[in-house]
Amino acid sequence: MNTIKTTCPYCGVGCGIEATVEDSTTHRVTIKGDSTHPANFGKLCSKGATLGDTVSLENRLLYPSIHGQRVDWDSALNHVAARFNEIIEKHGPEAVAFYVSGQLLTEDYYVANKLMKGFIGTANIDTNSRLCMSSAVVGYKRAFGADTVPCNYEDLELAELILLVGSNAAWCHPIAFQRIRKAKENNPNLKVVVIDPRATASCDIADLHLPVKPGMDALLFNGILAHLQQNGRLDQAYIDDHTEGFAAAVSEAQHSAGSIEQVASACGLSSAAVGTLFDWFAHTEKTVTVYSQGINQSGSGSDKCNAIINCHLATGRIGKPGMGPFSFTGQPNAMGGREVGGLANTLAAHMDLDNPEHVDRVSRFWGSDKIADKQGLKAVAMFDAIAAGQIKAVWIMATNPVVSMPDADKVKHALQQCELVVVSDCIANTDTAQLAHVLLPATGWSEKDGTVTNLERRISRQRPLFPASGAARHDWWIISQVAQRMGFREAFNYASSADVFREHAALSAFENDTEHQLRDFNLSAFARIDQHDFDALQPVQWPVSAGHTAGTARMFADGQYFTANRKARFISITPRPPVNAPNADYPFTLNTGRLRDQWHTMTRTGLAAKLTAHRPEPFVEIHPTDAERLGLAARSLANIQSLWGNMLARVEINPGQQIGSLFVPMHWTGQTSSHGRMGAVVNPVVDPHSGQPESKQTPV
Ligand code: SF4
Repeated sequence: MNTIKTTCPYCGVGCGIEATVEDSTTHRVTIKGDSTHPANFGKLCSKGATLGDTVSLENRLLYPSIHGQRVDWDSALNHVAARFNEIIEKHGPEAVAFYVSGQLLTEDYYVANKLMKGFIGTANIDTNSRLCMSSAVVGYKRAFGADTVPCNYEDLELAELILLVGSNAAWCHPIAFQRIRKAKENNPNLKVVVIDPRATASCDIADLHLPVKPGMDALLFNGILAHLQQNGRLDQAYIDDHTEGFAAAVSEAQHSAGSIEQVASACGLSSAAVGTLFDWFAHTEKTVTVYSQGINQSGSGSDKCNAIINCHLATGRIGKPGMGPFSFTGQPNAMGGREVGGLANTLAAHMDLDNPEHVDRVSRFWGSDKIADKQGLKAVAMFDAIAAGQIKAVWIMATNPVVSMPDADKVKHALQQCELVVVSDCIANTDTAQLAHVLLPATGWSEKDGTVTNLERRISRQRPLFPASGAARHDWWIISQVAQRMGFREAFNYASSADVFREHAALSAFENDTEHQLRDFNLSAFARIDQHDFDALQPVQWPVSAGHTAGTARMFADGQYFTANRKARFISITPRPPVNAPNADYPFTLNTGRLRDQWHTMTRTGLAAKLTAHRPEPFVEIHPTDAERLGLAARSLANIQSLWGNMLARVEINPGQQIGSLFVPMHWTGQTSSHGRMGAVVNPVVDPHSGQPESKQTPV
């Protein structure tokens, strides 16, 4: 028996796993938490603990096919390369796109990004992380000059006040939540505040729950900023020495928020609750604000992030133990994708497509004169362009947009009429794979080999437990092979994931001592890592630089930011309500989210009987008053209709819902429930800065 250390493939907590392979032929494996991994110290949640039940070959995509006919790899790769080249030659590079995933390993992400942005010459590569945390990226970039999470898990244990804003961490980041619960047991002074329209499982440990009116978070945080100013609770020295833009931001905060009573009225809260929150924030130095999809998935998600960050800048509570604005990303490798520029508006190694110097630097490093020099289409706009026939070929990797995108029926129709749809995945029968002209089998968790970065910036190894099944290949290999056949032979000549990792690290270090060390994300030590050390790589917090060879626990401890003048920026925030308001025809606001025991579209968690037992079918939570008014009995079926589509769900009456607000989980697909696909209902409104969809506020 062979015990291998690897990383959980589900949420952004990034827990370490010890997998003992009992039988590699039948894929029998015993899973337990890695007691030495700093993310989880041996603990696993229900999803991670049942990973052993999900590694069978059931519903695995095992062989390449073209138009449903099994082919060998050479035929499949030649076909994809030739068709992409034909379409590019005829219509230009903007006529093709990649839509990728936070499930990809950093090495896969890097190679996909390099091919599209560096060699095809368009930035039409976006990722399902767009739906998850792209507003948080904008928030950090605007405030700090770079997309940088300042905090770590230890800060949760050192804090005396933790705000969970738009975050049901108990279900969506369970092991991080358990750390908060434990910290609260150890420190009776630690207060937890949940700011969420719903009373979720995270409220179990809350000292205060503020069921804020959907979409009003920015106003609430503007209220905190104004309160800090009015009550002399600012860190004026920090504001003067390390920030700019405070006067305008606080003026706008005062103007928009008004008194505690006005904030409470606008947010649908009691004045007493708002007053308590303001008072606790003002008087608790060690404050961490955790925010997640409830903030990000909004037409004003970026502004909400900056309203939160403003309050931390005003109190100097960043980069110090037990303090900071802490974005919780959803996916296992959303952060790795951010490092390699996986979003359509970013370039590799945290450089910018809008900066000619950065474009030039990456172009010279990659040895390509074709590099994209402007932002590509973000997810919703990308599928709109496919629907309009402007994009004629799309390659979708490790994700299921026909289920997860807003206005998902439109996405489905777009792919049905697209000239070329290539899907590479480890799963055979997804709603998206059914629309593919070419299917390419990728390795899955338990076979993949590379790195992921968790939400506290910790790089960990995913290691293979078994050889690849069937004809499956690693994503980086598939992309490289297509790139070589498209004519980019030298630049994609990788022999291993370690090869790709070294190049990614070398690019990160390339000319990185310029610009007054604005991008000190120096992975140069990793640029020389050999196969043995890559295999043995221990979890380490990015960035790893000359001064921080063991990684960096906390960012901005010195108050120096990545802006041109090294100062952080306050952003003036004018709160905006959700774009589409409920009306007489669509009187409810639909909120969407995750369940404790499922992950994404259930392609993996759906294989574990223990997990599906928790909630076996799609449901809608509704307040008892609304249910009575509509004559909906518990366990009856409700048809949920928006302007964009409809779904069916089992009625669950829950007093934890607000009156006028419904909640549905995101997980069911056309395969698992013919009418339970929530993406069909969700409005395709996006944040103007981040392009992130407003997935939590659709009138229905
Ligand atoms: Fe996996 Fe997240 Fe659960 Fe940890 S908390 S075991 S990373 S799903």
